[in-house]
Amino acid sequence: MDVQKILQEGLSKKSENKKLANRLKKSKPKHLDALVHDLHEEVFEEIDCLACANCCKTTSPGMHNKDVERLAKFLKIKPAELIAQHMELDEDGEYVFRAAPCPFLGADNYCSVYEVRPLACREYPHTNRKRFYQVLDLSVKNTGVCPAVVKVFEGLQEKVQ
Ligand code: SF4
Ligand code: SF4
Repeated sequence: MDVQKILQEGLSKKSENKKLANRLKKSKPKHLDALVHDLHEEVFEEIDCLACANCCKTTSPGMHNKDVERLAKFLKIKPAELIAQHMELDEDGEYVFRAAPCPFLGADNYCSVYEVRPLACREYPHTNRKRFYQVLDLSVKNTGVCPAVVKVFEGLQEKVQ
């Protein structure tokens, strides 16, 4: 899989995808979740996150106290220590990693804290969540990060009238 090539395709279709997202936000079709979930399954049969890890390499999850506490417990350090080592607060008041790639991403693309990874990491890239219309803008943004989201939008462009 050529992650950069797929992201390039996503970039070239960004304005079409934005238009589609705006239409879907207004019409909120009832079958949107089912359609996106089917596309999600289809796309992730082809895409292997371990051959990509672009989200972990380029962006940070937003993290809440619970995420920080769970991670710190796993690492056997104090939450304040974890924050001091790796985190800062963003403009929304969420903790984010100060640097990218994520400090817990291995050279083999494995996450060294996988069992206790932040909720936002578990949920990314949101293409199997309910009420997908609520994350349409975010998903258009994610076409710049996640090749799977580019492919989901390709499917939506074909299937939504
Ligand atoms: S979620 Fe998307 S960006 Fe992250 S590793 Fe999987 S395919 Fe790549
Ligand atoms: S905690 Fe794990 S899943 Fe989350 S960004 Fe870091 S390496 Fe990726």
